[in-house]
Amino acid sequence: MRALLLALLLAVALPAQSPGVTYTRLEIAAGSDSATWVPVATIHGAKSGRTVAVLSGAHGTEYASILAAQAVIPRIDAAKLSGTVIVVPLINRASFERMRVHMNPVDEKSMNGNYPGKATGTQTERVLDVIARDVIAKADVVIDLHNGDIDENLRPYSYWTRTGNAAQDSVALELCRAMGLDHIIVRNLDVKNPASTRSASGYALSLGKVAIVAAAGRWARTDVSDIRLLEDGILGVLGQLGMLQRAKPAPLRVTWLGDDARVRADSNVFWSAVVDRGARVKAGQAIGFTSDYWGRKIADVRAPKDGMVTFIRSVPSAWAGATLVTVAELLVRPEPWKKP
Ligand SMILES: [Zn+2]
Repeated sequence: MRALLLALLLAVALPAQSPGVTYTRLEIAAGSDSATWVPVATIHGAKSGRTVAVLSGAHGTEYASILAAQAVIPRIDAAKLSGTVIVVPLINRASFERMRVHMNPVDEKSMNGNYPGKATGTQTERVLDVIARDVIAKADVVIDLHNGDIDENLRPYSYWTRTGNAAQDSVALELCRAMGLDHIIVRNLDVKNPASTRSASGYALSLGKVAIVAAAGRWARTDVSDIRLLEDGILGVLGQLGMLQRAKPAPLRVTWLGDDARVRADSNVFWSAVVDRGARVKAGQAIGFTSDYWGRKIADVRAPKDGMVTFIRSVPSAWAGATLVTVAELLVRPEPWKKP
């Protein structure tokens, strides 16, 4: 009887899951191609609260953001946490292991462009199906981390992607500010258009969750300043959500960026940039040039609009369709949402 009473008391006193970190693998069975697994760390807080998912490494050679996701795990003190944080530091293991930029080399598909995945699809689709069900579906908030890939000289920024749902959009803005990156790109999303919800953030938004994207780091570098920026940003978001006690940060002075335009290579060429990431450019200004395989110049490449270079190609290799530069319009302040 005493034992039963003790068991009952313990059941009441203890949370469903004792606080701490569990390190697991999401197993993805073989299908038309090979089986794989995805590393996950789940931090169970001492108190109940919301669930935040941190996704990283959909592009497996975006190292700074992958290292930031790993590094933040031991910085989240489960004893002081309210709620749960699910960290997926490297979604695209094959990209990391084979140093294949942008794609999963197993099936040559994007692991940030095929949500919600498919249980009977190729490896990318099977992985995303599991992440959609086991991670995103369980989260209230999704933080999707990226940086400039090996071929992208990117300046740090967050995306505030708006759906037109005022409650969802205002929380996302608070979390973008809490993330602490001082350049915010404002985008509008139509969650009813399936073509717009294939990314992790777009898919999460279409489920009514709050989702932000943050990018810091570039061209295979692992600068501590970029990694720290993202780590501190994640902790800032957890503080803003009341899941961790954090000192109130100084207000962020934001540079707002709007619609962006890309210039892509139309054939296989050599590429040379003549402006840096973050440069403010005018439409028509030369921002780089292409050359042939003998090193003879082919043509200047010009800015497609007035604005800021959010990222510019960082390597000479450029293939037909490769992004050479992205220029985003500078905004005085965000315009109201409008259906894209
Ligand atoms: Zn990325």
